[in-house]
Amino acid sequence: MDLARTDFHLDGRWVAASCPETLPVRNPATEEIIATVPAGTADDVDRAVSAARAAFDGWAAAAPADRAAGLGRLHDALTARADDIARTIACELGTPLKMATQVQAGLPLAVLRSYVELAARPPAEQTVGHSLVVREPVGVVGAITPWNYPLHQVVAKLAPALAAGCTVVLKPSELTPLVAYLLFDAIDEAGLPPGVVNLVTGTGPVVGEAIAAHPDVDMVSFTGSTAVGRRISHLAADRIARVALELGGKSANVILDDADLATAVKVGVGNAFLNSGQACTAWTRMLVHRSRYDEALALAARAAEGYRLGDPFDPATRLGPLVSAAQRQRVRDHIERGLADGGRLVFGGPDAPVPERGFFVAPTVIADVDPDSALAQEEVFGPVLAVIPVDDDEHAVAVANNSRYGLAGAVWSGDEERAVRVARRMRTGAVDVNGAPFNPLAPFGGYKQSGLGRELGSHGLDEFLQTKAIQR
Ligand code: NAD
Repeated sequence: MDLARTDFHLDGRWVAASCPETLPVRNPATEEIIATVPAGTADDVDRAVSAARAAFDGWAAAAPADRAAGLGRLHDALTARADDIARTIACELGTPLKMATQVQAGLPLAVLRSYVELAARPPAEQTVGHSLVVREPVGVVGAITPWNYPLHQVVAKLAPALAAGCTVVLKPSELTPLVAYLLFDAIDEAGLPPGVVNLVTGTGPVVGEAIAAHPDVDMVSFTGSTAVGRRISHLAADRIARVALELGGKSANVILDDADLATAVKVGVGNAFLNSGQACTAWTRMLVHRSRYDEALALAARAAEGYRLGDPFDPATRLGPLVSAAQRQRVRDHIERGLADGGRLVFGGPDAPVPERGFFVAPTVIADVDPDSALAQEEVFGPVLAVIPVDDDEHAVAVANNSRYGLAGAVWSGDEERAVRVARRMRTGAVDVNGAPFNPLAPFGGYKQSGLGRELGSHGLDEFLQTKAIQR
């Protein structure tokens, strides 16, 4: 597999970047540079936006069945590349190959499939008195995505945007840009009209800001950190452009006293450590009823012990490295601060053994975490679980809601109605009761500083439509 790419994809063709500068892409398990990609400039963004603008009228006017057929061909072309996608993400992000295959490649394929069906249905029109209310595509969308689910986060924007009739300029994360090249190979094979989707790689401050500030970009759809989401909002606000934001999280996993504790803790630890803890939805705060607290800590330590660190291509590996040396340092600092703030180390920690090469951090469980401390409030983005005792349902809800974030969460109870009552009171965009599986058709997005808008399913499609009233 040749991972090195040198071009952008603009107006339906691979074209040379305007500037010779490149950005290195590192394999975080080996620390070696495995490829370089072009460092785009504002001029490249301009070319990409012009292509998307020129393609917009035709794509917006295409029959929904034709757009759906295009997405269907893209789904087929990506499916044919599923193994390469998983291997590329294992190389650029360090996700263990099994998980890369099931989630990093499997999830975007499922999401894309769902939009083939949704794209085929024209948006519903409504008659309100003498008005005909119609839904129309927003226009040119700038999509800016992070590194932790490098294909899923792109598809979660691209598929609904295209289904709605929008055209797109994509900037993937500079840390994991390689899988986007496979996507654009698939886009070529699917024969989408030129300019409907365009790729510019580069850094956030240069390419990302040029997209967010571009006068011809009608909407910026961003997934990433809350700090960058704020910056993008400011840039878009200057010209009143629409913004959709999928940001950080610090989700609570509430384990009530009548829960099936063994399952709740095992699944909870698995969720917190998924993708080495580099997941915006990770249940990084485990809130356990005091009467089951010690038992839960013992179970959490036992579960953490099973997360073997190692080579992402070794089938025995359950936890890969973090994406970069900087991310490893941030996570180590969080662990040390959490312990200095009074947390009690139950498993892992700063001195636990990790492979010599690669940006690894040992799976770590810290108990007695003060709900107001940094470890309970800040997004760590590493395999670090904070465990907090709670007195009753009321207290659990208060601690769960004591966060500036509100993206995901969980509740466990032997009484499903009680669990749903607690779930309803949690100020967060999604709650899983008793380990219910992820639903790629359900709306996904945040309350509070976790974001604005929703992705996935019909709610995700709505984000890329605007409403017109025609009076007759
Ligand atoms: P990040 O905010 O640093 O970067 C995200 C993207 O924004 C990258 O493509 C980056 O190049 C670009 N960017 C950086 N600075 C920019 C600027 N000034 N202007 C425009 N674009 C800029 O985030 P990250 O480190 O790549 O990803 C981790 C973060 O993403 C975490 O906070 C995580 O919670 C969040 N995330 C959220 C979701 C969600 O759906 N809510 C999903 C995944 C990740």
